[in-house]
Amino acid sequence: MDRIALWSHPVTPSPSLTGTIHIVGAGLAGLAAAVRMAQSGRRVVLYESAGQAGGRCRSYHDTALDRRIDNGNHLLFSGNHAAMGYLQAIGAADSLDGPERAEFPFLDLASGESWTVRLDRGRVQWGLLSAQRRIPGTTVLDYLGGIKFLLAGASKTVAECFDTARPMYRRFWEPLAVAALNTRGDEGAARLLWPVLRDTFGKGEAASRPRYVRNGLSESFIDPALRLLEDQHSKVHFNSRLKSISFQGRAVSGLDFGDGVTPFAADDVAILALPPWIVSDLMPDIKVPGETRAIVNGHFLLPHSISDWAPMGLIGGTAQWLFARGDVASVTVSAADDLVNEAAETIAEKIWPEITRALNLGDTQLGRYRIVKEKRATFAQTPDQVARRPDTHTGYKNLFLAGDWTNTGLPATIEGAIRSGNSAADAARRLVPTG
Ligand SMILES: Cc1cc2nc3c(=O)[nH]c(=O)nc-3n(C[C@H](O)[C@H](O)[C@H](O)COP(=O)(O)OP(=O)(O)OC[C@H]3O[C@@H](n4cnc5c(N)ncnc54)[C@H](O)[C@@H]3O)c2cc1C
Repeated sequence: MDRIALWSHPVTPSPSLTGTIHIVGAGLAGLAAAVRMAQSGRRVVLYESAGQAGGRCRSYHDTALDRRIDNGNHLLFSGNHAAMGYLQAIGAADSLDGPERAEFPFLDLASGESWTVRLDRGRVQWGLLSAQRRIPGTTVLDYLGGIKFLLAGASKTVAECFDTARPMYRRFWEPLAVAALNTRGDEGAARLLWPVLRDTFGKGEAASRPRYVRNGLSESFIDPALRLLEDQHSKVHFNSRLKSISFQGRAVSGLDFGDGVTPFAADDVAILALPPWIVSDLMPDIKVPGETRAIVNGHFLLPHSISDWAPMGLIGGTAQWLFARGDVASVTVSAADDLVNEAAETIAEKIWPEITRALNLGDTQLGRYRIVKEKRATFAQTPDQVARRPDTHTGYKNLFLAGDWTNTGLPATIEGAIRSGNSAADAARRLVPTG
C-alpha cells in the first residue's frame, strides 16, 4: 500500500512541527507533494499562478460545446501504482472507469482492418500463439521485441530498435511510443518505454487495464486533492506567480510573488513543481530540457450519447486515440507539432470523418466542436532532452524539484508527475525535523 494512504484522517498541523513547506505550482506534481506533506502533518502552503489548480490536467466548461470537457484525454493503466495511490489518498479511487479486462481495440483507418489487443491473466501471454489473437501481420517473435527497450542504450530511439517496415512497428510499437512519449518513434528515447512496459504489460492483465476518468480530470485528480488540503488546514494561493527566489549561500531564504519577498524561517523548504522553462528563468544554473512537443485534442458533439466505450487506438489517419463520454467524442493527436499550426477548422474537418467511421455514424455532418492545442504539452522525450532532466535534489539544501519533466525515469505522464511530487515530498520530509 502507498504510504500516504495510511493517513486517512485530517491531521491538524502541530505547532511542534517546524518548517513550512512552500510548494509552487498546483499541477499534479505540486498537488501530490502537497497531499503527501499535509497528510504527514506538515504545514503546507501551495502557490499557483493560474486562477485554478490542475495545470495540464484539468476540466472546464467549454462554451462552443456547452459541455464540461477535459483539456485533453488522459489514459492511465491499472498498473500506474503512484497514480492509483494518489487517488486513494485523496478519496477518489473509485472515480476512474475502464473495462474489466485489459483490452485495446484498434482500427487501421488506411486498410480498414480492426483488431483488439487482449491480455491473458497470467504474465505469460499464451494467447499470442494463436494468430487470431495477434495484431494482423505479426508473429510471436515480434512481441518479444519489447525487451529491446530494456537493452537500449541511452542514445537509442524507438525506431532504431525495430525493423520499421514490419506491421508490428506501425501497429503497436510506434503508436505506443507516440502515446507514451508524445514524441515520434524516430526520435523518441527507447529506454523510457521500458518502465512503462515492465509495470503494465510485463505484470500481466491486471496491471494493464486501461483507466480513464468517469466525469472529468478535475473531478478525479484535482478537486478532491484541494478538499483534502483544506481539511488539513493547508493554504492554497491562486493567482500567485513566483517571480524570483532569494538565496543565502546554498539555501533558499525567500520567495517573491510580486508583493515583496516572503522570508523563509530556518526550517522552511521550497518545492518547485513548475514547467521547465519557468525553473530555467528562475534558476539559470539548473539544466532543464528545453524542447517541447505539442498535443492536439478535438472534442466533437455527437447526435446521441454513447455508453460503454473503451478508448480506441486509430492508426493510418490523423486521429490516434478516440474517447467518448456522453455525447462528446474526443480525439487525441500526440507529437502534433505540424498539426498544431493548422487552423482549428481544418483540423476538425480532417478528424471528423475518422470519428464517423470509428463510431459508425454514417454521413453525420460535423456539428459543434472544440480544438484544444497544447503547444507545450510535454518536453520532447528524445535521448538528448532526456539527458537534461534534473534530479529532485538541486544542490540547494532546502530546495527540491518536481514535475513530469524531472528525472523520474518515466515518460512525462500523470504517473511520472505524481511520482516526482512524492519524491520531492519524501526528500523534504527527511530534511525537516518533526520537532
Ligand atoms: C493534452 C494532454 C494530454 C495528455 N495525456 C496524457 C495521458 O493520456 N496520460 C498521462 O499519463 N499523461 C498525459 N498527459 C501528461 C500529464 O497531463 C502531465 O504529465 C501532468 O499533468 C504534468 O503535471 P505537472 O504538475 O508536472 O505539470 P503542470 O501541470 O504543468 O503544472 C505546473 C503548474 O505550475 C504553474 N505555474 C507555472 N508558472 C508558475 C509560477 N511562476 N508561479 C506559480 N505557478 C506557476 C502552472 O500554472 C501549472 O499549474 C497529457 C498532457 C496534455 C497536455
